[in-house]
Amino acid sequence: MLAMCVTDDDRLTSGAYSCGVTFIAVAIPVARTDAVSRSLETARTAKSHGADLVEWRVDSLAEDPHAAAAIVRLVQESPLPCIVTVRDESEGGAFSGSDDERIAAWRAASSAVPPPAYIDVELSTYHARAPMGDSAREIARISSTEKSDTPRVILSFHDFRGRPPGLSSRVAEMWSDPGSAIAKIVWTARTARDNIEAFELLASRAKPTIALCMGEHGLMSRILAPKFGGFLTYARADEHGTALGQPTVEELVGDWGFRAINQSTKVFGVVAYPVSHSRSPEIHNRWFRAANFNARLFAIGVAPSWEPFKATLAELFGHAPLDFCGAAVSMPHKENAIRFVKESGGVIEESAQRIGAANTIGKSADGRLFARNTDADGVVEALANAMRSAGGDGELRGKRVAILGAGGAARAAAWGVASRGASVVITNRTASKAKRIAEEFALASGDASALDVTAKALSALSKERFDVIINCTSVGMDGGPAANQNPLPAEVVLDERVVVMDAVYAPAKTALLVHAEQRGANCVGGWEMLVAQAAHQFEAWTGKRPPTDATPSR
Ligand code: NAP
Repeated sequence: MLAMCVTDDDRLTSGAYSCGVTFIAVAIPVARTDAVSRSLETARTAKSHGADLVEWRVDSLAEDPHAAAAIVRLVQESPLPCIVTVRDESEGGAFSGSDDERIAAWRAASSAVPPPAYIDVELSTYHARAPMGDSAREIARISSTEKSDTPRVILSFHDFRGRPPGLSSRVAEMWSDPGSAIAKIVWTARTARDNIEAFELLASRAKPTIALCMGEHGLMSRILAPKFGGFLTYARADEHGTALGQPTVEELVGDWGFRAINQSTKVFGVVAYPVSHSRSPEIHNRWFRAANFNARLFAIGVAPSWEPFKATLAELFGHAPLDFCGAAVSMPHKENAIRFVKESGGVIEESAQRIGAANTIGKSADGRLFARNTDADGVVEALANAMRSAGGDGELRGKRVAILGAGGAARAAAWGVASRGASVVITNRTASKAKRIAEEFALASGDASALDVTAKALSALSKERFDVIINCTSVGMDGGPAANQNPLPAEVVLDERVVVMDAVYAPAKTALLVHAEQRGANCVGGWEMLVAQAAHQFEAWTGKRPPTDATPSR
């Protein structure tokens, strides 16, 4: 389908665009005349991975006195329809030459047979600098006659520092200029909310438009460009790329399923700070794909306080065309998740209410939000599986469980296992926090919902036998406060009748698990818990269990 569109109109004019395809462009910088062959090879590889267009970034090359022949060769031998760009230093490029050099590069590109599909001209150049503006307008004038052998003009604006002032008036200016075929605006996103502004520009476009956000917050705008009718998105042809945040062509086509994104694609996010380490996008996007569920999940970094959390989620859920359907919420926003859903008039489910934190926000059929805690389900499910693997029935009722730690994971684990009938002892470095959890859970209502949870000192664990021991401290975690350490005293009884679980998932085999395994205990790691809680999130959002054979390996 795409190939046909491109072949039907090999210059990728707005006729090709009307096929409804958002193209994948790779920008390839060509710094020197002797880099032409290598650059053409890079473009051929990008084409084989699925790119539709190549942008020859001849910023530095344009300053070479022998540039013309190299530029003509790049264009003529380009394996894909191409854009030729001489990007100025002021807009993030490498060109610092003279106006004459830039004009000469444009003229060389235009003389190629066939010529490039497009020449990119910065809005500032087009309007502000007379000789170049005239040349660009000359190209635009010829191209506006729709002769098939002239390049069209992409009018562009870039701001690498952040959202430019007067963003919409700049775009309106580009749309209204009869000489440009495409308007392009690219800026560095300050937060995830900038993506929504890019989507609004695309949705209200007066001509084919490229609106993309750069940087760690901008990935959504790159991936979801087809949902909003963007003319193209950029991908990296190699490890470098030309702007922060570009995925590779293979990631875009393979991992993100770019070709299948359309208006109906639903959007989810994992909201945390920091968020770059999260495996949730990989896990959920694989499951969505394998289950044929048209959705994508993005990592959304939100600064660690209530106001930015509230503002971001309100904007994501409030932008109807985005169809934002749910969030996996991680540190440090699990309590904010409850507050947000409560303030929006949604439902706080019992798990989240009792634990005092939610890791999942979803939307019910009636449009109301709900907050759920699937960490508790994740602990219980991973434990039950381990208990069954050890020959047991996976039943927690009547079992004695020790929990180390009194943070968010410990609260979820304590509620999860105690609400299934286990007797829980909780111990923590800061003893008062363990005591508070025990009091809250045991005294929650003074009736049948009271759970068997008591707080004890760590030293007391060695005097008792436990069926299950769960580490919910950060001890042993890579990069954490006590990496490679074992939080469990050596005297605590461990043998083949004990199941030891570590919530820490990096490294896969913690010092605690090594210690427990050496004593014959049955071990389960944090990865199993992570996948199990993610499976419950998937179910909360889609109504189905995930296709677990599509789960990525740890
Ligand atoms: P948290 O709320 O910050 O709690 C951290 C806990 O670790 C507290 O009890 C803290 O004790 C204790 N701790 C920290 N450093 C310690 C040290 N040097 N010695 C003894 N205790 C120490 O964090 P969390 O959200 O509960 O997460 C805890 C761990 O579980 C993390 O490694 C996290 O990655 C993991 N986790 C895994 C999953 C999963 O799906 N596998 C889900 C959630 C969390 P104090 O109260 O005395 O500070």
